[in-house]
Amino acid sequence: MTTAAERREALVGLYRTLSEDWECPLRAGRTHIVFGSGNADADLMFVGEAPGANEDREGRPFVGRAGKLLDELLREIGLVRADTFIANVLKCRPPGNRDPRPEEIEECSPHLLRQIELIEPRIVCTLGNFATKLLSASPQGITKVHGRPQTVTLGSHPVQLYPIFHPAAALRTEAMREGLREDFLRLPALIEAARRPVATEAAAPGEAATSQAAAPQLDMFG
Ligand code: URA
Repeated sequence: MTTAAERREALVGLYRTLSEDWECPLRAGRTHIVFGSGNADADLMFVGEAPGANEDREGRPFVGRAGKLLDELLREIGLVRADTFIANVLKCRPPGNRDPRPEEIEECSPHLLRQIELIEPRIVCTLGNFATKLLSASPQGITKVHGRPQTVTLGSHPVQLYPIFHPAAALRTEAMREGLREDFLRLPALIEAARRPVATEAAAPGEAATSQAAAPQLDMFG
């Protein structure tokens, strides 16, 4: 079994490689690479779209108004950021906050998939259209699929993909904010179900086949 310390070390290695060697097409316009932050051993991972101006300045994901809403929603379900890992489809800010381009997503997505492989979250919660379409490998938009968990294999790892509205979109309308809140309220049950031990033939009667210790808090890249 991979330990939390090993996951963290591998993620730090990936971060160093990307910061030092990666010829990202968006590097000329960025201040910082926004690798992602949080718990390397998290069961729950969020994937947003791309860093904005605040994130680019600070080098951390979701530090602006959308991030404040994310923090508030997490608090309402009894979690904090450090229980989760937060990353984006793109690790560098597109100029003027324009939408990510297909070739940028193609360039950057292997790094996101590697992060998912290293963290091995049980639930990947995609925020908005870009992350949802990429990780579900489907053109179906967020309005259709939000709030509906689906099992997908990312890298070599089966996860529950849980698409929800992007917090920045939810800041724009009350209806979307309520939709996002409702979807968020289903997260604790999903996490609980995903953590439940899976009984196998090898397990003795009444004995759990697998179990997961509480994830240690490891905040990094901050
Ligand atoms: N929006 C995103 O999709 N990601 C961030 O990190 C910030 C805002």
